[in-house]
Amino acid sequence: TRAVQSFDKVVASVCPFCGVGCQTEVAVKDNKIVQVDGRNGYANENRLCVKGRFGYDYVMSPERLTKPLIRRDDAPKSADIDMRGADPLTVFREATWEEALDRAAGGLTSLLKAHGGKALAGFGSAKGSNEEAYLFQKLVRQGFGTNNVDHCTRLCHASSVAALMEGVGSGAVSAPFNDALKADCIIVIGARPTTNHPVAATYFKQAAKNGKKLIVIDPRRQDLMRHASHALEFKPGTDVALLNALIHVIIEEKLYDEQYIQANVSGFEALKDKVKDFSPEAMAEVCGIDAATLRDVARTYAKSERSIIFWGMGISQHTHGTDNSRCLIALALITGHVGRPGTGLHPLRGQNNVQGASDAGLIPMYFPDYKSVENADIRGQYENFWGQTLDPKRGLTVVEIVDAIHEGEIKGMYIMGENPAMSDPDQSHARQALAMLDHLVVQDIFLTETAWHADVVLPASSHAEKLGTYTNTNRQVQIGRPVLDPPGEARQDWELIVAIAKRIGLDWKYQHVSDVYAEMASMMPSLRNISWERVEREGSVIYPADAEDKPGNEIIFTDGFPTADGRGRITPADLLPPAEVPDEQYPLILTTGRLLEHWHTGAMTRRAGVLHAIEPYGIATMNPREIARQGLTQGDVIEVQTRRGTVEAILRADRDVADGMVFMPFCFNESPANELTNPMLDPFGKIPEFKYCAARVLPTA
Ligand code: SF4
Repeated sequence: TRAVQSFDKVVASVCPFCGVGCQTEVAVKDNKIVQVDGRNGYANENRLCVKGRFGYDYVMSPERLTKPLIRRDDAPKSADIDMRGADPLTVFREATWEEALDRAAGGLTSLLKAHGGKALAGFGSAKGSNEEAYLFQKLVRQGFGTNNVDHCTRLCHASSVAALMEGVGSGAVSAPFNDALKADCIIVIGARPTTNHPVAATYFKQAAKNGKKLIVIDPRRQDLMRHASHALEFKPGTDVALLNALIHVIIEEKLYDEQYIQANVSGFEALKDKVKDFSPEAMAEVCGIDAATLRDVARTYAKSERSIIFWGMGISQHTHGTDNSRCLIALALITGHVGRPGTGLHPLRGQNNVQGASDAGLIPMYFPDYKSVENADIRGQYENFWGQTLDPKRGLTVVEIVDAIHEGEIKGMYIMGENPAMSDPDQSHARQALAMLDHLVVQDIFLTETAWHADVVLPASSHAEKLGTYTNTNRQVQIGRPVLDPPGEARQDWELIVAIAKRIGLDWKYQHVSDVYAEMASMMPSLRNISWERVEREGSVIYPADAEDKPGNEIIFTDGFPTADGRGRITPADLLPPAEVPDEQYPLILTTGRLLEHWHTGAMTRRAGVLHAIEPYGIATMNPREIARQGLTQGDVIEVQTRRGTVEAILRADRDVADGMVFMPFCFNESPANELTNPMLDPFGKIPEFKYCAARVLPTA
C-alpha cells in the first residue's frame, strides 16, 4: 500500500475476474475505489482488459447486502421468483448476526441429525480465495460428513481435468500462456481469448506478429482469426473427427516423435488402430474442413520445433468433452510437444481462482491436490489430521446434486458465492430444486437469483475487501489485498465459514487467514516451499517451487509425468454425436458463452456501470443470412425455444455465428440462456453440454 497524490492509498492486488490473474494497482479515495491500473506482473506486464480496468464499481453498488436476512414465515418458496424490481423485504426480514448464524447452522444440524450427512451438500466458489475454498470443503467433509461439495469448475473444465488426470497425472497447465511467445506453433481451439482471457490473447497476437504460426479452430469466427496463419471454422460437435484426422496424418506421415513415445508414452498402438478410419479425406465432410487444410495443420503442428495447445469451453462443455481433451493430450504426447519451453497443454481457466479452488479440494472426488477420497491411505491421513472419520465415497457433482434434491435425497445446502439458479443447465429444473430444499443457506455479496430461494442469507465480502491467495491459470499463487471495508454489517467469508463450523460442533481455532493457508499448504505438496510469508513478500509465486529461495517452475513434465509409472497415457477417442441434435421441430443449434464485458452469471459485471452501459440487454446472435432465412430482422425481440423452455432476447446480427446456429450469452437474467441448455453430462467429467442443443427461434408472440 502506498500513498499517492490525489488518492488516499494505492493497493497492490489482483483482478477479481478471469483466470489470467492480472496484477492490479487499486486507487482509493474517500473509501471508494476510483481507479484500477495494471501492474508489471508476470501474467499481464501492466496490461488490463475492460473488465479489470472499468469493472470495479460493483463493489460499491447500493445493491450490496449489508445485513443478514432470514426468510419470512409467510414467504413461500417458489421456482418462479421474479426478483427483478422486487423488494427483498417482502420475502426476507433483517436479523442480527447471532440469530442468522444460529438459524443457518441450526437448520443444517437438524437435517444432519435426522437424515445423516448424505442429506447435505455445499457449493463453494471459484471467485473466493484458496483459503475460503479449503475451509469450505473441510466444513462439508468434516462437519457434514459427506463429499457432496463442488463448485463451478464442474461447469467449465471438469472434463479437461478428467482427461489430464488420466493422461498426464495432473490437472494443471504444463506451461504458462506467456510461453506462446517461445512457441513456433500455437493452437487455440474451442476458446475465444480476446473475449474471455483478453490479456492472455495479447501474447497470442504478439506471437503471430513475430511470425509464429497461429492456428485458431472454432465453430464461431472470432477476432483472433484475423491474426491466424490458419483459421478453421469447423462444424460444431465434430471436435473428435477433426482432431483424430490431425493425429491420423501425423501417424500416416510418420511425423511423430518415436524416441519420446518410447521413453514416455503408453497407448500409442491403440491410438494408431483407432485413428485408421479418420483420414482427413474421410473427415472433411464430417467436420467441414477440407482435407488439404487438415493435412497442413497437422504437419505445421507436428513439424514445428515447439508447439503449444490452448483450449477452452468449446472443447470441454460437451458430452464428449473428456474425449475432446484426450485427443489434444494425444497430439502433444505423440509429437513430444510437452515438457519444454514453448510447448505443452494449457486449458485456459475461466474464473480468477478456479485453479486454486480445485487444487484446494473443492470438488467431490478429491481432497486437496487431487488426492482421491476413495483411497484409504489418503483418507486415513485426513482422518488423523482433522480428527474425524470421513466419508469413503466420492460425493455428487453440481448437476447430480440438483437431481438428488429432486429425488428427495438432498434436503439442505450451504452455497457460498455460487449462483446455480443462473449457471446450471436446464435452469427451471435447478430453480425448482432450490425451492424444494428444506433448508438453504446462501452466503454472497448480492441477493443473487440463488439467494432469493434461501432460508438464511449471510452478507459476505467482495474480493476488494479481503485478504487471501488466488491461483491463476498459469499456476501462479498470488495475493489479493483488501482495499475497502465490507459495507454495513457484511463480514469476511472465511470468518463466516468458521462461525458455521463452530455452531455445528467443530473446534476450529483459526486466528487469521494465514493460519488457514499454513494448514492447507501443510497438506499440499504443490505448495511446498511457498509459504504465506513468501506469497505476501513476492506477490506471486508459480507452483511447484523447488526451494523457498528459487522461483517456481514455469514448465512441468520436463522429466516424465506424475502418473503411477511416470508415463503419459493415451486414451483413444471415438466420434460420438452431441446428446441432442437438430431435427424438424428444433432445426437450429443453440450454443452459449460469455461476452467481453460480462463475467459469468453477471452478478458482478451487470452492476458495474461502464460494462453495463456497453452491454445492457439480453441478446441472441445469429448470422444475417440465417436471420433473413428465419424471416426475422436484427433488433427484433425473439423467442428462443428448446425442449426445456422459452426465453426472450433481442436479436443481433453477427457474421461470426455460422448458419444454422444461434448464440446466447448466459449472463442476462432477463434472457436466461441456461433455461434452454441441455443438462446431459459427459460421463467422465460430469460436465453438461452447454455448447450444443437443438433450438428454434420465433418472433415474439
Ligand atoms: Fe482481469 Fe482477466 Fe481482464 Fe486480466 S484479462 S484484467 S484478469 S478480466
